[in-house]
Amino acid sequence: MRDEGIDVLCLSVGPDLPYLIGYEAMPLERLTMLVLPVESEAILVVPRLEAPRVAEHDDVFTLQAWEETEDPVQIVAGHLGGASVIGIGDHTWARFVLALQVAIPNARFVTASTVTAPLRAIKDETEIAALELAARAVDTIAAAMREQGFAGRTEQHVHRELVELMLDSGHERANFAIVASGPNAASPHHDPSDRVIRSGEVVLCDFGGTMAGYCSDITRMYAVGEPTTRIRDAYDALVVAQEHAVQAATVGTPCADVDAAARVVLGEAGLGDRFVHRTGHGIGMEAHEDPYIVSGNAQRLEVGHAFSIEPGVYVDGQFGLRLEDIVVATSEGPRRLNRAARDLAIVD
Ligand code: ZN
Ligand code: ZN
Ligand code: ZN
Repeated sequence: MRDEGIDVLCLSVGPDLPYLIGYEAMPLERLTMLVLPVESEAILVVPRLEAPRVAEHDDVFTLQAWEETEDPVQIVAGHLGGASVIGIGDHTWARFVLALQVAIPNARFVTASTVTAPLRAIKDETEIAALELAARAVDTIAAAMREQGFAGRTEQHVHRELVELMLDSGHERANFAIVASGPNAASPHHDPSDRVIRSGEVVLCDFGGTMAGYCSDITRMYAVGEPTTRIRDAYDALVVAQEHAVQAATVGTPCADVDAAARVVLGEAGLGDRFVHRTGHGIGMEAHEDPYIVSGNAQRLEVGHAFSIEPGVYVDGQFGLRLEDIVVATSEGPRRLNRAARDLAIVD
C-alpha cells in the first residue's frame, strides 16, 4: 500500500475480503466493509445480523456491527479520517462507492486490486493443494461424462447433471457449466438451451465450481458418434496448441508468449482466425483473476502463478472446440493440475 501511495483499503464483496480475513461479505444492499488503513488497526464494519457469521480475529481486525437505522457509509467514512487515496475493492457496489465519494469529496479512489491482485496471484502450497483438490474433482466428472449417453438429451439436462456432480463431489458452489452442442459451441460462452443433442455432433462441456474456497475450471469435448475429418483435424491441432502453450508456461516467460505459443500452432493449421479469445486466465478464489494469458500482457510468470490454458476453435454455424486445463508455474516447470484424458471422447 505504501509503494502504491494508498492510505487505506476499503474491501466489500468479492474474494479480497475472504482472502485476507476468511470472511465473505453477503452481496446485499446492507454494506459490509473492511477498512484497512496502512498505519492503524483494521475495522470490519458489518450489518448487525451478519455479525454472528464473522469469525473474530482480534489480532487482525476489530468488528463493528451497525444497526438497521444507522448509515453504514457514514460509519465507514468516519474511519477514513484524512485518507487522501482510498483503494476500493473492485467488486464494491457502485451505490456504496458513489456514496463514499460524496461523504469524502477530497479523496481519490483507486482500485484495491492494485494491492490485492499481485498478492492473490501468487499461490502458496496450501492454495495450490486446494486448487489441485478442486481440479481432481472435476477431472473425475469429466471422466464420468465419457460413459454418459448424450444423444437425445437437451443441453440443459446435461448442464443440470454437471452442476449436481460438482456439488456431489464436494464443491460448495457450482459457478458455471457450459454445455454447447453442434453449432451452439461456436459461441464460446453459450448458455445451455433446450436444444436436443443429436448423433454426429460434438458437445463442449466447460464447467467449474468453488471447493474449500478455491475454483475449478475444465473444458472437455465429447463427440456423439464418429466426428467428421474436419472436426478431428481441428481437434488434433487444438491438442497440440494447448500442449505447446502449457510447455511455454515456464517461470519468467511473459504471459503474451504463452498465448502466442498456442496461437502459432492454430495459425499454422489455418485456424488462426477461429481462435477468438485469449489463451487463459488466472484462477484462485475467483474463477478469473490475474495473471491473464493474453497477447500484449508483458507480465512474466512467477512461481505460484495458477492459470488456465484453454485455446479454442470456433466456426460459426458449424461447431466449436475448446480444451482447458489449470496449470501452475513451478521452479521445475509448468505443472498441470488437471489430468483427465484430453482426447476427443466418443460417446453415445
Ligand atoms: Zn470462459
Ligand atoms: Zn477458464
Ligand atoms: Zn472453463
